[in-house]
Amino acid sequence: MTITFSRHYYLEKFSRLHTDKNRTRWTAVTTHRAPHKPLLLLAVLDLFAQGSLTTNLIELSPELGELFTTYWHTVRPPSQRGILTYPFYYLQSDGFWHLQPRLGQEAALAVYRPNAGLSALHALVLGARLDDALFDLLQTADGRSALRHVLVTTYFAPELHEPLLRQTEVNVAAFVYSESLLAHARREQKQVKETAVAEPVRDQGFRRAIVQAYDHRCAICGVRILTADGHTAVAAAHIIPWSESHNDDPRNGLALCHLCHWTFDEGLLSLSDSYLVNVSPQLPAAANLPGHLLTCNGRQLLGPAEASLWPFLDSVRWHRRHRFRAR
Ligand SMILES: [Zn+2]
Repeated sequence: MTITFSRHYYLEKFSRLHTDKNRTRWTAVTTHRAPHKPLLLLAVLDLFAQGSLTTNLIELSPELGELFTTYWHTVRPPSQRGILTYPFYYLQSDGFWHLQPRLGQEAALAVYRPNAGLSALHALVLGARLDDALFDLLQTADGRSALRHVLVTTYFAPELHEPLLRQTEVNVAAFVYSESLLAHARREQKQVKETAVAEPVRDQGFRRAIVQAYDHRCAICGVRILTADGHTAVAAAHIIPWSESHNDDPRNGLALCHLCHWTFDEGLLSLSDSYLVNVSPQLPAAANLPGHLLTCNGRQLLGPAEASLWPFLDSVRWHRRHRFRAR
């Protein structure tokens, strides 16, 4: 197939996805259709734009789940959760998306149905393979741009076109930003010019860098919870707050679960120069029930696997001096 022919062919395919059409369930905003498939394909286009897909296999990765979620929340209210299982499974019916069973799971995949959930699907498939011609087309910026345009204008009302295209820009820029933050930390180069980067890109990029460095584990209590669709229990915390430091270096950050994040920001937890957790005497004060947090006292920080990404001592000392409730 020539690239010109395949471009026309897949533009046509992308404009005629088999989607659930239901006027009671889906409003005019998503052209009275389920938005799952076009949103998943937008997330896949972002993986290509990042250069993350060097072989023709789209895995059910946390990264794909996160990208899908960013688009989902652009078009649906936060109260509704976007379920990745349906589009990942049902895109098969559109002819260019081929699920690749794990060895020996062919028969189980043949009887799988998406209401069994994403973890079950993950256990059966390595991922999805695209038609080779589509895979080649998506390696080109032109091809991605044309297909993205078709997805956005076919399946979404005009007022969503701009927000969806902006989300693409943020996703791609956040990826570039997070990679540059990690690269600078690893090579101990000068800081990136954070203030030149737009806030949504900074937030998403810093978060991506930290969550990857700590592999989704809370640096203080050790909790690691990652859902099959890529939702994680940890957030990226600045040790010296952004408002004070304007510093998104991963070494000024920690991956913390929500409870540890709040407790750390309140100065009820801090770190020693040898990265031991200090618990404030205020934490177990009368009437408080701090539970498992007390067991963190004196415990070693659960830092990144890469030694070069551990927190700056200057940041740790700043937090101890300016935040910690020592009495
Ligand atoms: Zn925690």
